[in-house]
Amino acid sequence: MSRFMMDHSPVPVLVVAEDGRLHYVNEAAEELLGYGGGCMTEMSIFDIAPHRRPDMWRNTLDTLKLTGSRTLSSDWRAADGHTIPVELHASSLEYEAKSYVVLYAHDTSGRQEAQEQSLRLARFDTVTGLPDRQMLHDRLQAEARLALPQGRRIALVAVEVNEIQKINESLGYALGDQLLLLLTRRMAAGLRKSDTWAHMGSGEFMFLLTDDGQLDDDLALQFSRQLVETLSGPVKLDGAVVEVSCGIGIVVFPQDGDEEPRHALRQAEAAMRMAQAMGPNQICFFTAEANAKLGDKLARAAALREALGRQELYLQYQPQIDLVTGQVIGVEALVRWRHELFGDLAPDDFIPIAEETELILDISSWVLKTACESAMRWQQSGLPALRMAVNMSARQLNQPDIAGSVEAILRQTGLDPHCLTIEVTESMLMNDLAHVADALSALKSIGVHIALDDFGTGYSSLVNLRRLPIDMIKIGRSLVPDVTAATQDVSITRAIINLAHSLQMKVVAVGVESDGEVALLVANQCDQMQGFYFSEPLHEQDMLALLRDKKCLPQDMIGRKGRKRTLLLVDDEESIVSSLKRLLRRDGYDIVTANSGLQGLQRLAEYEVDVILSDQRMPGMTGVEFLRRAKELYPKTVRMVLSGYTELQSITDAINEGAIYKFLTKPWNDELVRGHIKEAFQQKEMADENLRLDREVQDANLELAEVNKRLQHLLAYQQEQINREESSLTMARDVLENIPAPLMGFDPDGMVAFMNTDAEKLFSDAGSLLGMHVNDLELEPLSMLWNACDGCHHDITLKGSAFRAVCRPMTGAAKSRGALLVLMPQSNEALRPDGSPT
Ligand code: C2E
Ligand code: CA
Repeated sequence: MSRFMMDHSPVPVLVVAEDGRLHYVNEAAEELLGYGGGCMTEMSIFDIAPHRRPDMWRNTLDTLKLTGSRTLSSDWRAADGHTIPVELHASSLEYEAKSYVVLYAHDTSGRQEAQEQSLRLARFDTVTGLPDRQMLHDRLQAEARLALPQGRRIALVAVEVNEIQKINESLGYALGDQLLLLLTRRMAAGLRKSDTWAHMGSGEFMFLLTDDGQLDDDLALQFSRQLVETLSGPVKLDGAVVEVSCGIGIVVFPQDGDEEPRHALRQAEAAMRMAQAMGPNQICFFTAEANAKLGDKLARAAALREALGRQELYLQYQPQIDLVTGQVIGVEALVRWRHELFGDLAPDDFIPIAEETELILDISSWVLKTACESAMRWQQSGLPALRMAVNMSARQLNQPDIAGSVEAILRQTGLDPHCLTIEVTESMLMNDLAHVADALSALKSIGVHIALDDFGTGYSSLVNLRRLPIDMIKIGRSLVPDVTAATQDVSITRAIINLAHSLQMKVVAVGVESDGEVALLVANQCDQMQGFYFSEPLHEQDMLALLRDKKCLPQDMIGRKGRKRTLLLVDDEESIVSSLKRLLRRDGYDIVTANSGLQGLQRLAEYEVDVILSDQRMPGMTGVEFLRRAKELYPKTVRMVLSGYTELQSITDAINEGAIYKFLTKPWNDELVRGHIKEAFQQKEMADENLRLDREVQDANLELAEVNKRLQHLLAYQQEQINREESSLTMARDVLENIPAPLMGFDPDGMVAFMNTDAEKLFSDAGSLLGMHVNDLELEPLSMLWNACDGCHHDITLKGSAFRAVCRPMTGAAKSRGALLVLMPQSNEALRPDGSPT
């Protein structure tokens, strides 16, 4: 009965053996394909589905064994050759220990038109036999149409096996495919029949999970964890063991992302990339926030590619100020992007995107070239030469011959290498210190300066950095304290500055915004500053105006000579402040006053104070506490306490730790106080002078080191040149020595100065001729040749052999540098029939 039903079923049925042979074909199938009389059992599946290769068939079989059944599409070829598009429902069948595939065919040519597009795109991955990206996409659309109106959710889980691509590249596709298939089987074992999945290519899989209303983040997460467990771990592959890991991205929608299913694929993949960035075997959900970022990011990456060509990038310049002279000594070039939709974008908005692609290289060289051209243009317009600082990206620094490319741009623009500073960030040093050290040394050797940006944000210590050729470090805002900062912060900054100085490096403070910060930096010997306080980054025109105006820091801020002595009086009793002020004014001091410790600190930020005289007993902060803080912040001030109460212990402690220079008592003796104050100023001026000398010595040392380095470079270059000349000389000598003809050199007087091997051989019976005069050799032809020295050929006979000889002066016509004689042997073959030489 079953057989009858099968034979006469209107549905075409074929049973195919493992090797592709057709085991059974019913009437409907024969009719569909146009064959009759049971001849089809002699045929194989490859006869009717010619595009299906045996390896594809094997894959289909393998997957079917795992999944039980599946739906496929195919193009069959009928007996008369025409193509019949069919949709096949395939089931796996085990019978008497053999495997078969039962195919139920459905002729879809009737629907061809309606479904043409989806059928054309419906393809299967040849390795895994799984649907491909397009097929999954179609399936997702269909699922979404069905599920979303019913309020059900769909989850997409993207997973990438990290090792597939690596194996493909290193060991070949055969092994990669092997691993792919192995993992596909592992995953298939844990799937439910209703789950749809696809191989998106290169080891990336996508799972589409649907459920009757229960699907949520937890379920998707559980599924993903299971996947991690299935996939990760060691796999034996062709004798070797491969440690497999993966990254998983999940999007559940509608919920996190938008409702548009076609976005969901991209979102799941974006989440997967995030997971991969987090490390091996991580799982990441796609969130609305990430969604916004992604859209933005993708749009920007695409636009950035065109920005360079459309000249939407431009540079701004921020001045760098020397804290000793107060003058602008350099500028930093900062790139900007004027985007037609987003407006002006800061580098942080697009440099990281560019960093992810090769695009950063084009941008970087554009920045470098433009900055060098500007610096050159400014110099040519008569402005003093400034140092141009350019930020270098990590990828740029990793280019094989970065020094070569920088040098090329310098040559092209004509900028002196000493006018260029390359800024690298501390984080770049952490990737591959050895390579970075080489690249920096190469850059340094062409003469550019190196600055280490963002110092203090990474993990490298200054001590480790001393092996790198770094000229200056740039400390960021977090290391630029102001008067309200904790004293420990100031100490850290000071320690960094001191250590940098002891390593012959300069320190530039970035992001300086207030006069309090400038004062603190000056007080702690920071070398240069850059920040909104002096100027924001400027367009070229504004920068030029600033330079022409010779804008600089107010002289009193940087403690230049000619400034009046400044005294700070602190007392909570106004009357005491007034009488002290009256007393001391006649000594010509600039006097500033405060009524509390806090106010005192404020004044210290506003004025450059030399000497402080503070009451001890004050509400809030005692005099000792205030002076301790003043010492931390402004260590160069000379600090004194004036007190009626002898709180001896705390004051002695403060004196011992150096917070207080002197301790005066109330009520005071006018003349004594005047004397002490005067002495304190002298003390301060001496210290200032010492400091100035110290800095001069330091600067001179730095310059000396720089000159030394340049000298060494020059010496090395000259030595190289000498070596090269020496070796070419040796070579020339060797060549002369071995020329297969006797060769002699005469000095201007006719003395034999040189003979090559063949010449020595020729005259070997006469002993060495070196040092003898040609006329004394008793060799008539030689004397004749020397005396003529005409550069003409003469046929002569010497020691019984025929030679064609030439004697010519070493340079020009006169014999002032001696002469060279060449004797070209005339072989027998070279003689004319009559015996004379040719
Ligand atoms: P950076 O090298 O640390 O540059 C200093 C940044 O601090 C600049 O931001 C500047 O505008 C800002 N700044 C200057 N003074 C102050 C201040 O007083 N207060 C505050 N809060 N900020 C201040 P910008 O221009 O947005 O640049 C950001 C970063 O982008 C730079 O940090 C640099 O690392 C990078 N960058 C800029 N131009 C380029 C470039 O041409 N190539 C590469 N690879 N990176 C660049
Ligand atoms: Ca910088």
